[in-house]
Amino acid sequence: MALKPWSFGPQARRFLATSVLDGHQVGFDLWRHLAKHAEFYCRNQDTWNLALDLGPPCDALTPMRERSILSRVVRSEGDAASGGKLVIALPGNKQIETAIVVSRKRSATQPTICVSSQAGCAMACRFCDTGLRRGVDLPAWAILEQVLHAEAWLQRANLTASNVVFMGMGEPLLNYSNTLEALNLLCRSHKTTLSTVGVPPLRRLAAAAPRNLRLAVSLHAPRQELREELLPVAGRALKLEELLSIVRGFEESTGFGALIQYILIKGVNDTEEDANQLAELIAAHLRCAGINLIPYNPTQAGSSFGYQSPSDAACKRFRQVLRQRGFNATIRFSTKLGRSWSAACGQLGLEG
Ligand code: SF4
Repeated sequence: MALKPWSFGPQARRFLATSVLDGHQVGFDLWRHLAKHAEFYCRNQDTWNLALDLGPPCDALTPMRERSILSRVVRSEGDAASGGKLVIALPGNKQIETAIVVSRKRSATQPTICVSSQAGCAMACRFCDTGLRRGVDLPAWAILEQVLHAEAWLQRANLTASNVVFMGMGEPLLNYSNTLEALNLLCRSHKTTLSTVGVPPLRRLAAAAPRNLRLAVSLHAPRQELREELLPVAGRALKLEELLSIVRGFEESTGFGALIQYILIKGVNDTEEDANQLAELIAAHLRCAGINLIPYNPTQAGSSFGYQSPSDAACKRFRQVLRQRGFNATIRFSTKLGRSWSAACGQLGLEG
């Protein structure tokens, strides 16, 4: 029986009391239900509270249960059909941003929700505006509420997200326990990918994470010294060889190849020689599900180092080298769309 959001009343109450609350079912059923009907719950506080009151125990949802939804969307930019971002206010005058990226495969619209795990980020990567602010850890409920708000936004346009990626503000592994708590629910409702620049808690993740979690690793450089230049904190925290060996362990324990992310910056890391070195490095260490090339999006942080976006032709040349070496390499030209509302990679979190 499908619960029609607008029909909440005795019928919905029965639904919650039977289908969702069947004795042997656990908290993730409630989470999946809330995500599926997010638009309804986000606009209707009473029924939201009722669903939480009636729902089964679930640690990550306890703060929502005690105090109901704590965050609110203060502004949205873009639109659900082509993507956008939500600016979300948290108690204590904090603001975070959640991007919604829309891709199309064979005319099907596939939205992905890009959640933030911290407000700001201590990693201070040179090309990223999020790193201009100190990182403050978000509790698990604040990560989960981003998904509810984004799903509600999409559902107003009759869309729903199948993917959630931890690629918004912050380094999720620096907020390890809250991220893990949120992952335990999200991996039940969405195909979920955690993206990291590679910090020591990655060693623990393989053993603790849900088995179906995908991993994306932001390398951005094929050599240690260049990596330390672009990622001054993360590059020193784990040397390239050590990072890749941990990622290899993660691939073995989950059975999924890692996705490699690489921001292309004109004249810095975008030559054919860089592409060849990257191919050799990955081939020597990883199974690798694919390489995602992201043309640098202009940022305040990057402009202070003179960084510029590469031409489309340069991006394609780089991709060609990787493809010739047998890698599934793609260019995320779609992130250019996010530039107009500052939701592209590296641009989140400068306001607020
Ligand atoms: S790129 Fe990621 S890890 Fe680096 S500063 Fe930005 S948010 Fe932090």
